[in-house]
Amino acid sequence: MGKATQFIDSAAGTIFRLGEPGYEAEVAGFQTAYTHRPAVVVAARHAEDVRAAVEYAARQGLPVAVQATGHGLAVPADGGGVLISTRRMTEIRIDPETRTARVGAGVLAGDLITAAAEHGLAPLTGSSPSVGVAGYHLGGGIGLLAREFGYAADHVRQLELVTADGRMRTLAPGDELFGAVLGSGGNFGVVTALEVELVPVGTVYGGQLMFDTPLVEPALRAWREWTATVPEQLTSTLAMLAFPDIPQVPPPLRGRFVASIRVAFNGSLAEGERLVAPLRAVGERLKDDLRAMPYTESHTIHNDPADPHAYAATNAMLGELTPEALSALLAVAGPDGPVRVVLDIRHLGGALAAPSPNGAVVDHRAAAYVVRAIAMTEGTAAPDSLDAIRKALAPWTIGHSLNFLYGAAAAAGEAQTQAGYTRETYARLAELKRKYDPRNLFRFNRNIRPV
Ligand SMILES: Cc1cc2nc3c(=O)[nH]c(=O)nc-3n(C[C@H](O)[C@H](O)[C@H](O)COP(=O)(O)OP(=O)(O)OC[C@H]3O[C@@H](n4cnc5c(N)ncnc54)[C@H](O)[C@@H]3O)c2cc1C
Repeated sequence: MGKATQFIDSAAGTIFRLGEPGYEAEVAGFQTAYTHRPAVVVAARHAEDVRAAVEYAARQGLPVAVQATGHGLAVPADGGGVLISTRRMTEIRIDPETRTARVGAGVLAGDLITAAAEHGLAPLTGSSPSVGVAGYHLGGGIGLLAREFGYAADHVRQLELVTADGRMRTLAPGDELFGAVLGSGGNFGVVTALEVELVPVGTVYGGQLMFDTPLVEPALRAWREWTATVPEQLTSTLAMLAFPDIPQVPPPLRGRFVASIRVAFNGSLAEGERLVAPLRAVGERLKDDLRAMPYTESHTIHNDPADPHAYAATNAMLGELTPEALSALLAVAGPDGPVRVVLDIRHLGGALAAPSPNGAVVDHRAAAYVVRAIAMTEGTAAPDSLDAIRKALAPWTIGHSLNFLYGAAAAAGEAQTQAGYTRETYARLAELKRKYDPRNLFRFNRNIRPV
């Protein structure tokens, strides 16, 4: 590597090479089914470290991967590539006047929630506090209050991006690349910081209602009908899952197959209680912790797993959720179905159906629900169980969400990426890719090939 190595040694953060101490810790992330194995990891601290690393990679013709947390690791960098690790870029600046936050590429959702709450504000975060703010927005971002506020990507005001030519660019709505970056997950460069809108939400009414096996189907059917009646200020998800029969899971949940309805409502306790009454009427709950809570407790609504593990997920965005679609889901992944996955159905619509105000390339906005199926798995192959879910939902599927595809690198091809967009959007993105990244340096993602 000679001269270029000296350049990167002097300019770009801390460097870890394959086999050196520190390398394994730096590539490790939330996804453990596989990890990035690049030749070099640049542990970036500042935007300039990122710029220098991209310039170095471009000169060498090396592909570049980015990792903040590893939640969304799609295609691993292997052999000769460079991984830019952003986890140290954790600066947060809140401006209460403009209700915006400028966040570094390595900021976690939970840290932004805490910082915004000091000003009575909240970011449009999703279910897990340990997801990275940048990666979440670059995939669209379906938040806890998504039906009221829309995709998080629609609320980005500014992006700082290092493109494949090693240039640092500040992008705002109207710039050619701005919208293309929001929804295409790292295909156009490395975001070093972004400015996002915050909303004046201090508390929400929310939590979980959990029903035991005999009530799974009644809960599912009641929830479907109920979603047609709720206001946009209420966003909910229904999950079907089996708790493992192990001592770490306390009774009465141990070994049970349950339906769990997760609710987030931006409104009063009294109105929330009134709205959820038809759900409580389904019957006895194994768990019912619906309450008024500060947004800083919003991670308890979904209670996503906090520890790294091996998983793969697929999803289907549905134009409608008919009683027949529910029957198809129950037949394949219900309590008596052949397939064991963690399955959740998120209610979409509301502001999610509106066109993006800032040009974010998040498509399939006509979807009324998105079904996500997660399987515990090792390696890069897509488990058969995920295929079975997709097949069962095919008659109602209008597309797929790129943010809710996890792992299964072996299945991450062009066809999969194309299904995340309309034909027109994909063609436009492929054209922009030719212009801004003709050598496809940024290819360790749900990749858009340059035309
Ligand atoms: C438990 C869990 C819960 C989730 N909940 C939600 C949810 O409620 N709503 C939702 O919409 N999504 C959700 N997601 C999906 C999540 O938003 C995506 O997986 C997202 O890509 C994760 O970003 P990350 O930075 O944490 O992960 P990483 O694996 O570090 O990054 C994922 C990818 O994003 C790109 N990327 C990350 N940072 C940058 C950057 N600075 N510049 C350029 N590209 C970058 C890269 O292509 C990278 O491979 C969830 C995922 C998990 C595992």
